[in-house]
Amino acid sequence: MPLQGKDAHDAATSPQQDAAGASAPEAEEVPFWKRLTLEEMSTEQWESLCDGCARCCLNKLEDWDTGEIVWTAIACELLDEDTCRCRDYPNRHDFVPDCIPLDPKTVRTLTWLPPTCGYRLIAEGHDLYWWHPLVSGDPETVHEAGISTSGRTISESDIPVEEYEDYIVAWPGELPEPEAPKG
Ligand code: SF4
Ligand code: SF4
Repeated sequence: MPLQGKDAHDAATSPQQDAAGASAPEAEEVPFWKRLTLEEMSTEQWESLCDGCARCCLNKLEDWDTGEIVWTAIACELLDEDTCRCRDYPNRHDFVPDCIPLDPKTVRTLTWLPPTCGYRLIAEGHDLYWWHPLVSGDPETVHEAGISTSGRTISESDIPVEEYEDYIVAWPGELPEPEAPKG
């Protein structure tokens, strides 16, 4: 099928813990992502919703005829493939001008955000999964649960565009296991 490149994007910032900032004791019992809309969140709270999976930093391909978007295992050239962090987030647009910044509006507009994405989950009225750093308290659980792209990608620097179709994968669009692993 005829395909065209679809830009990688992200807000793959470092997950931050304890960003609720609730003022009343009773409010502190309810996590901020359950009681605030995306628009009501502070910058710190917003940034902490990113689980650091880096799925959105993968290149995508779009079918010219149908508009269908498929994922590839080809990562943005700025992605650290082990840590799943952007290697130059503050200056990323100097190198990747089409890295799309996420805000409440774009989160509700983009159709290709992974189903595991913290922003998408909250925008659609769901809770965060057990492995989200805000829930687990541990930034490593997104990797331990197999949600992140760590160890599963190849850099776009190493792949000619005409070979992208050879790297189409389904897992970035798949949901995780519902429960935490035993032990
Ligand atoms: S520029 Fe950085 S944040 Fe944007 S897609 Fe690439 S690695 Fe991800
Ligand atoms: S898919 Fe969502 S949660 Fe994962 S790195 Fe991108 S913005 Fe963050």
